[in-house]
Amino acid sequence: MASIELKNITKTFEKHDVIKDLNLTIEDGKFTVLVGPSGCGKTTLLRMIAGLDPQTSGQVLVGGKDVSKTAPGQRGIAMVFQNYAIYPTMSVRENIEFGLKNNKVPKAERIELVESISETVGLKDYLDRKPSTLSGGQRQRVALARAMVKKPSVFLMDEPLSNLDAKLRVQMRIELIELHKKLGTTFVYVTHDQVEAMSMADKIVLMNKGVIQQEAPPEVMYHTPSNQFTAQFIGVPPMNITYVREKQLTFGFRPESAAIGRSPQQGLVQTSGEIITREMLGSETIYQIKTPLDTFMIKSIDDQYRVNETVYVSLPEEKIHFFDDQEKRIA
Ligand code: ATP
Repeated sequence: MASIELKNITKTFEKHDVIKDLNLTIEDGKFTVLVGPSGCGKTTLLRMIAGLDPQTSGQVLVGGKDVSKTAPGQRGIAMVFQNYAIYPTMSVRENIEFGLKNNKVPKAERIELVESISETVGLKDYLDRKPSTLSGGQRQRVALARAMVKKPSVFLMDEPLSNLDAKLRVQMRIELIELHKKLGTTFVYVTHDQVEAMSMADKIVLMNKGVIQQEAPPEVMYHTPSNQFTAQFIGVPPMNITYVREKQLTFGFRPESAAIGRSPQQGLVQTSGEIITREMLGSETIYQIKTPLDTFMIKSIDDQYRVNETVYVSLPEEKIHFFDDQEKRIA
């Protein structure tokens, strides 16, 4: 097992800094998720940790040791990509065994390792099958097993579930959380999907334009976002944020924090507005409501309101966030 430290990392592509003087400690044995919009530098950062790309400046430490100049294969790190990198002509067993054979691990030891790892990832009954006869999720597990045989102290994963359909993705998320528990190894997982980040991470590292915006456990990031970017990136629909010109203040609230009704209720902010759109999702309904303050997205368990209807919106004081003119959250 190993922690990872990134010290003053900068990466420049064609005179453009895609990572800017970044400092981060990834804790030993934790499930850390790097999340952020497309192009923010997540993959670049992961590749520098793996040693696949050199940083322009700064240091990468794994387990306290500076590996900045260490070759990828010598860093004790395994990487799983979104295109699984498994060999179609080899059986599941051969795929898993491949790296071991290359490293001249004796046959008896190879057999034992393949058995125990295929058990861990639920592929024991599929060892003699070819990848083409497996489901997407099973193929993803072959890729994981291939990475696991090397007994890495760190797993890096770059959008490993993005090729799977929605239902399988949810199942694989749970499997990855279980796998992490079983292995107790450091996991670093890259995604642009905040739901994946929220559901899997011990700690989320949210990036934008090569800069870390906030690093925190999911609940902390959701309830106490450091700035407007974080507040709107984490959570669906995003936090409502409104600038009130007369008072020169910016306030925000989560879509589920406001109550709507046909009569006024208690709350620091009270307004009324017309429902413009209504999206019924089953257990909850999302209304877009145009009020004199702004147009808000409001999530409610009550699906009785209809488009064009006028409703009251009330917001309790403790649910309101305030931001300064630098977009930082102040309360
Ligand atoms: P996505 O979620 O779309 O995969 P990302 O956050 O992983 O995005 P990166 O792939 O790290 O983003 O790219 C960060 C920035 O660096 C982008 O603007 C990209 O165009 C640029 N970039 C990445 N690799 C190179 C390269 N080899 N040469 C030039 N620019 C690059």
